[in-house]
Amino acid sequence: MAKNKRRIVVLGGGFAGTGCIRKLESYFRNDEEIEIVLISEDNFLLSTPMLPQVASGMAEARHIITPIRAICKKTTFYEGQVSSIDPHGRIVNLRRTGRKRGIGVRYDFLVIALGSKTNFFGMKDVEKHAHTMKTLNDALVLRNKTMDMLEQSETEFDPIHRKSMLTFVIVGGGFAGIETAGELMDLLIDARKHYPGIREDHISVIVVESGPTIIPGFGEKLAKFAYGAVVKRGIDVRLNSAVTGFNGIEAAIKKLSGEGAGQEEVVRTNTLVWTAGVAAADAIRNSILKTERGKLVVNEFLELSGFPGVFAAGDCALCINPETKRPFPPTAQIAEAQAKTAAANLHALIRNKKKAKFDYRAKGHMAIIGKRAGIATFMGRNIVGFWAWILWRNMYLSRIPGTEKRIRVLLDWTIDLFFGRDVSRMDVMKKPRSVGFRETEEQDIW
Ligand SMILES: Cc1cc2nc3c(=O)[nH]c(=O)nc-3n(C[C@H](O)[C@H](O)[C@H](O)COP(=O)(O)OP(=O)(O)OC[C@H]3O[C@@H](n4cnc5c(N)ncnc54)[C@H](O)[C@@H]3O)c2cc1C
Repeated sequence: MAKNKRRIVVLGGGFAGTGCIRKLESYFRNDEEIEIVLISEDNFLLSTPMLPQVASGMAEARHIITPIRAICKKTTFYEGQVSSIDPHGRIVNLRRTGRKRGIGVRYDFLVIALGSKTNFFGMKDVEKHAHTMKTLNDALVLRNKTMDMLEQSETEFDPIHRKSMLTFVIVGGGFAGIETAGELMDLLIDARKHYPGIREDHISVIVVESGPTIIPGFGEKLAKFAYGAVVKRGIDVRLNSAVTGFNGIEAAIKKLSGEGAGQEEVVRTNTLVWTAGVAAADAIRNSILKTERGKLVVNEFLELSGFPGVFAAGDCALCINPETKRPFPPTAQIAEAQAKTAAANLHALIRNKKKAKFDYRAKGHMAIIGKRAGIATFMGRNIVGFWAWILWRNMYLSRIPGTEKRIRVLLDWTIDLFFGRDVSRMDVMKKPRSVGFRETEEQDIW
């Protein structure tokens, strides 16, 4: 860093991190005194709401990611895994893939946008056997597992084994869970034409949600409607229920409240997808920063108390909505809105201006629940079915940066209208990263 330059470091290349960088680049475009740095473990922005479509084969994996270097052109990008943050020393410690030495990156101002980690609530058996739906690898692994289950069950004579191969349990009735369930159902039903031995009633997709409603971000009325629409698609939704164990072949589901409270049922399944529960990213847990419910506690300016100039945005930030007195939910729209406020407040701080409070008015919420069906609230109206699905597609297509990737996704969707599912199983199975981030004792300071 040049001597009199001040450095802004943004951690995380998701919706919040890249959104923040884009704003910062526009504020400091002609300012030679400010250096902007982005650190993320992947060198691309992943459109997470489209992950279930990669799992179902509706969209190609490479089409839902955009290289960070194509989005953030005036920023220094570091591909590395943040291992800890030292807010007193104003330094971020990184692990990298190709070096024996770690790196410490100094900062003057910091934005933490590291998203969140899946929380298995200490259930080691679930952690060991469950699939997750957070990364591109997760989506590809689930797709190949599903194809494998179809292949195996087609030639399986034991009806009990066949049933458990064709039973898919999704834990969590939020966006990730419901969209994954809808896409899986579509894939299974569409792929059936290649598997004459599998009948529709052999297939079950079960969603287990601990709360009294699915997609709690929707108002009560729409959430009720969403429930009805998902059930109508043939998905078995178990509300007020929790998965208490999974050994790879059997899942224990406990009713938490209502009729039959306390009862436990064992469901035979080979595939359980865990989308529930949020824990702080390891880098945050390894630091002295204050967390609550696995998130960084921020004030109304999205700043961490006690550390002026350090902001948090997106899924890793716990920010209370002054109207509802509840935390803002973890959504892509809120992550983007917080990124803009964090960038504006950093700009205000550097220019000695007044910071602005995070003020969020939702334009709408939307989710897709399967083939050509969605649910949405948009400009105060509840929309369901085909038009909600179109709205979802438009909204998330516009979120993909760059025309090229948008056209590619649009082509994937168009092709799906005319041709059947590709049922090839690629040999991508659960495997650790081939080039892991290295644990190092020595480090260079940059
Ligand atoms: C399957 C699925 C479907 C969803 N559907 C919807 C939907 O329909 N609508 C909606 O509004 N929201 C949806 N969401 C939620 C939405 O995707 C998130 O709220 C949003 O991605 C949050 O953005 P973020 O930038 O805070 O976090 P993320 O997008 O998770 O980004 C975090 C970034 O930090 C990086 N990172 C993490 N740890 C480290 C580390 N130690 N070192 C370096 N880099 C690190 C990650 O690689 C990533 O780039 C969905 C989420 C999932 C998983």
